[in-house]
Amino acid sequence: MSKSSQSGNIKVFCRFRPLNPHEKLTSDLIKLEHDSNISVTVFPQTEHSIPLTFTYDYIFTSESTQEDVFTIAAKPIIEDVIQGFNGTIFAYGQTASGKTHTMTGHDIFDPYTMGIVPRMISKVFDSIESADENVEFAVKVSYCELYLEKINDLVEVDKKALKIRQDRSKGVYIANLSEHYVASDFDVFELLRVGTENRQVSCNKMNTKSSRSHTLFSLTITQNNALDLSARVGRLYLVDLAGSERVSKTNAEGQRLKELKTINKSLNTLGQVINQLTDGKASHVPYRDSKLTRILQDSLGGNSKTAIIITCSPALSNESETISTLRFGFRAK
Ligand code: ADP
Ligand code: MG
Repeated sequence: MSKSSQSGNIKVFCRFRPLNPHEKLTSDLIKLEHDSNISVTVFPQTEHSIPLTFTYDYIFTSESTQEDVFTIAAKPIIEDVIQGFNGTIFAYGQTASGKTHTMTGHDIFDPYTMGIVPRMISKVFDSIESADENVEFAVKVSYCELYLEKINDLVEVDKKALKIRQDRSKGVYIANLSEHYVASDFDVFELLRVGTENRQVSCNKMNTKSSRSHTLFSLTITQNNALDLSARVGRLYLVDLAGSERVSKTNAEGQRLKELKTINKSLNTLGQVINQLTDGKASHVPYRDSKLTRILQDSLGGNSKTAIIITCSPALSNESETISTLRFGFRAK
């Protein structure tokens, strides 16, 4: 695969959220200049002294709306998935930088604040409604989390520690993960609500777990054309990653240290897989080095379309984490 075709399939977007009310009182802004909508220069105050310039496919500022993010970063991917390609959208960033706001949104039923996932779903059903009547569509969804390298179903919560399998017809898949056929956007919203609630319950039992697990929402669209008997299958993964902050290992022990090690490993592997894919010379893409990349293997690389949205805090108190997030996104380009 040549460099140009692969990097055309992987796009990196950057989003800065606004200061939150607490930061407004306690923190200055990171000193930065938006040179254009693809380039930003940071003037580090605490870490280094030299200015750092980063470029991406597009940079969303604190004023960008949920609709802007959907239209620019996500809509092209769902259009390809409806054509039968696979796709993946990730949100990467430290805890509280806006990953869940970007992917799901605070309220999936509010047309203004809803995130990418509900907008994607509405778009799918709009397209189905206006499609050729000879084409029969089937849409199914699944929703799981990856915590300490264990895959747990978020819809049927008794399904825990699921295994990854591979076969010729299905490709790479999670065995026994519940899959749900859906007939309307309302059906999907209901599953999303159930899954999010289940995740909340398990996270409350373990205070901070929500920032230490990856969640993967998948939507598969199958089309059968009654006239020419052609079939198409497109699969989309929408991934809200665990927080990327690197807490000092010296302060962590027991469960926390285990969590840290597994998150570091899976985010590092994700970074390596993306780098290998964008760097045409790649001979070995290390999909198997983490469950995250293994699950996503058929949706990353090849003809698949990928959008990485790095989410950044604008607060000076988060400067070093924001710079590390900007670096991750820049390396992925
Ligand atoms: P993460 O999932 O990365 O831990 P969240 O998405 O939960 O972070 O965001 C943390 C807080 O900041 C939430 O209250 C969220 O509503 C708010 N927030 C995040 N991004 C934005 C944004 N672009 N505009 C307004 N509020 C935001
Ligand atoms: Mg979150």
